[in-house]
Amino acid sequence: NSLTPSPDEGIDEEEEVVLEEEKSRPIQIVLANEENHNFDLDTAALEKILLQDHIRDLNVVVVSVAGAFRKGKSFLLDFMLRYMYNQNCSWMGGDDEPLKGFSWRGGCERETTGILVWSDVFVVDRPDGSKVAVLLVDTQGAFDSQSTIKDSATVFALSTMTSSVQVYNLSQNIQEDDLQHLQHWLFMLSLMFLIRDWSYPYDHDYGLEGGNAFLKKRLQVKEKQHEELQNVRKHVHSCFSSISCFLLPHPGLNVATNKYFDGRLRDINEEFKKELAHLVPLLLAPDRLVEKEIGGNKVTCKDLLEYFKAYIKIYQG
Ligand code: GDP
Ligand code: MG
Repeated sequence: NSLTPSPDEGIDEEEEVVLEEEKSRPIQIVLANEENHNFDLDTAALEKILLQDHIRDLNVVVVSVAGAFRKGKSFLLDFMLRYMYNQNCSWMGGDDEPLKGFSWRGGCERETTGILVWSDVFVVDRPDGSKVAVLLVDTQGAFDSQSTIKDSATVFALSTMTSSVQVYNLSQNIQEDDLQHLQHWLFMLSLMFLIRDWSYPYDHDYGLEGGNAFLKKRLQVKEKQHEELQNVRKHVHSCFSSISCFLLPHPGLNVATNKYFDGRLRDINEEFKKELAHLVPLLLAPDRLVEKEIGGNKVTCKDLLEYFKAYIKIYQG
């Protein structure tokens, strides 16, 4: 198992990881054209990633994080990268290491709407002896006008269709329109609601168990509910093969508001780190990885490229 912890290999391995990370970067593969609201797929860039000899024929696991902007998606993905590069008990890193990878930042400046993938596709040995390829996907959306909301919805839909696990990153709670967005996606995959800055641990505890209990309550169909609200709930249930929810505590004021914060662990609340240590392996441990399936068939990296090409056409004028 290539992911077995190897605490004895010391500094050499760490140096290798750093070198590896330097040439590794986020690659923009889908870009929204802000003038005509069309979408472009960078086919050449995606081919370069997905058609590499050592992965093209492996079944693919696509973990995507989506949701409104400035809610810590890229920040979370950078911890996922640390886990993928460094699978041992100290994967989260040292106290004073700035967090790098997908770019994340404070402030309220907008970013271009689109989809990015990490340039390195990780090969993981599963407990059953098979190898899978793991692709990490970041999404960017702007929600500042009617037209950009529509573009962001497209990015959402595209990333959902092409992923095997969609992490639906939300702030503080699940609102009615968060559920309504989901209704438009008729695709079978695993969906995890990830609620950031959860502030009702006395109602539902942080983590997966608390989250699932909260979600169950939130998705309950009640007789007294308006028919429309009932329908959203029934629909969401039938769209996804498995739905879960994870409640993350607030990471602390440094993370949320200090403009000099560079992502180092020292500046992040203990409680947040404790829950993060549970969350990332839930999504990425070898025995938890969910392979991408379409129409009941496993999808390889090579197939995924074709699906991207086909799906983007739906959104091209
Ligand atoms: P993205 O636009 O969703 O990718 O958000 P980023 O990852 O760029 O993060 C936006 C800002 O939110 C940064 O200043 C982060 O330090 C901060 N941040 C990251 N995680 C959290 C969280 O769980 N709660 C809060 N309140 N802020 C966070
Ligand atoms: Mg981001």
